[in-house]
Amino acid sequence: MLLYCPLCDDISPAEVCNYKKVLVRCNSCGIIFVPRMSGCNDNHDFYRQSATSPFNYYSRNLAASEKNSQYLFSIISRFAQPGKVLDIGCSTGIFMQCAEKHGFEAEGLEIDPNCVRMCNEKFGLKVHNKSVEESEFDKNRFDLINLGDVIEHFVKPLPAMRKIQTWLKPGGIVSISTPDIKSVAARWFQIKPDEHLTYFNSTTLSSILEKAGFKVIYKAPFDPWRDLFSLRYSTTMNLFPLLPGIINFLSQAIGSENFLFRLPFHENLIMIAQVPE
Ligand SMILES: [Zn+2]
Repeated sequence: MLLYCPLCDDISPAEVCNYKKVLVRCNSCGIIFVPRMSGCNDNHDFYRQSATSPFNYYSRNLAASEKNSQYLFSIISRFAQPGKVLDIGCSTGIFMQCAEKHGFEAEGLEIDPNCVRMCNEKFGLKVHNKSVEESEFDKNRFDLINLGDVIEHFVKPLPAMRKIQTWLKPGGIVSISTPDIKSVAARWFQIKPDEHLTYFNSTTLSSILEKAGFKVIYKAPFDPWRDLFSLRYSTTMNLFPLLPGIINFLSQAIGSENFLFRLPFHENLIMIAQVPE
C-alpha cells in the first residue's frame, strides 16, 4: 500500500509490520509508523485536552522525571556549554529546572495548557503554549534544544526537525530521547497508535537527524526511571487490563505512593547531534 512515510517525508510503499499489525514499515527506508494518508491532520487537540498522555500522570511523576532529567543532563553537559536552551514538549518543566541549575537560560514549548499553567505559575518558568509548527523563533537563537519523549508524537517529524535545526546556532546541540522499537520493553509499553505515530531505532533516528542537517555525535540506550503508582494515570494502563488492580494492591502493601523503578531493557534511545559549524 502507498502511505505517507515520516522519514521519507513522502508517499512510499509500505507493508504491515509482522509483530504489531496496527503498524506498518516503509519499504524504502525501513521506519515503522502508524499508517495515515498524506493529508493527515495535526493531532494537537489530543494534547490540549489531556486526552492522550494525561496531565495527572506527569504531575504525579515529578520524582522520576527529575532523576531522568539529571541523568540526561550528565550526558548533555559533556557536549553543550551553558547558554540558551529550548525544551520542546517540556511537560511539567522538570528538565528546564535542571537546565537552569546547570547555568542555562531556559524556555519551553508545551501544547497541554495544564502543564503550561503549572510551569508558569508554580515554577516561574517561561513556557509558550504552542507546538513546533505554531512557533517562530529567530534563526540561531538557541545553544541547546531538547526533545524528551517528543519526536515519536510528531505528525511530520522531518519538517519539524528541519525547523528546529534553524533555531540552533552553528555548533548548537539537539538532544533526543525516544522509545527504541528494537527493545522488547518499548514493544510492550510504548505502542500507542493514538499518540506515538513513529517508532524509531538507532538507524532511523540517525537518518532523520542527518536528513534535517545534523551530525550525530553520541548515541546510547537509556533505561528511564518510572514511578510505579503514577502509572495508574498513564495510557499504558489501557494496554494491560490487570495492571491497575495489581498496582493498587502493591500501593497498599508498600504503604507509599512513590516507588521508583526502572527496567533493564533499554526501552529508550538517547541521541545527541550537532549543527555543523
Ligand atoms: Zn520511508
